[in-house]
Amino acid sequence: MLYGSSATLRFEASHIVIGHPDCGKPHGHTWSVTAHVSHEDLHEGYPRGGAGLGGCLEALVREVDGRDLKMMVPLIVATPTALAAWFFERISHDFPRLTRVDVCHRLEGGSVSRA
Ligand SMILES: [Zn+2]
Repeated sequence: MLYGSSATLRFEASHIVIGHPDCGKPHGHTWSVTAHVSHEDLHEGYPRGGAGLGGCLEALVREVDGRDLKMMVPLIVATPTALAAWFFERISHDFPRLTRVDVCHRLEGGSVSRA
């Protein structure tokens, strides 16, 4: 059997998505990010010790909270899916059993899953 654990945090950040009907001008959102990891032992909890998944996510959220995502993550257009990919890459260094990251704001969301 395969079990899953997750951590969710919210943060405030601004972005712009040129050409998007609602996000085409600089503005802010409350974003949420959820990271999911899998483990085979029910009592294993998170697959690695240390600060745990929540602590890892918290450290990354501190980097973007209250910031302009265009400046913090300059190589991507800050859509929910692109941010999910950014979080996935950063979290997967410490959590190789990371299976999915979801990012959303208001009614829009995006995700990245391990194939
Ligand atoms: Zn927006």
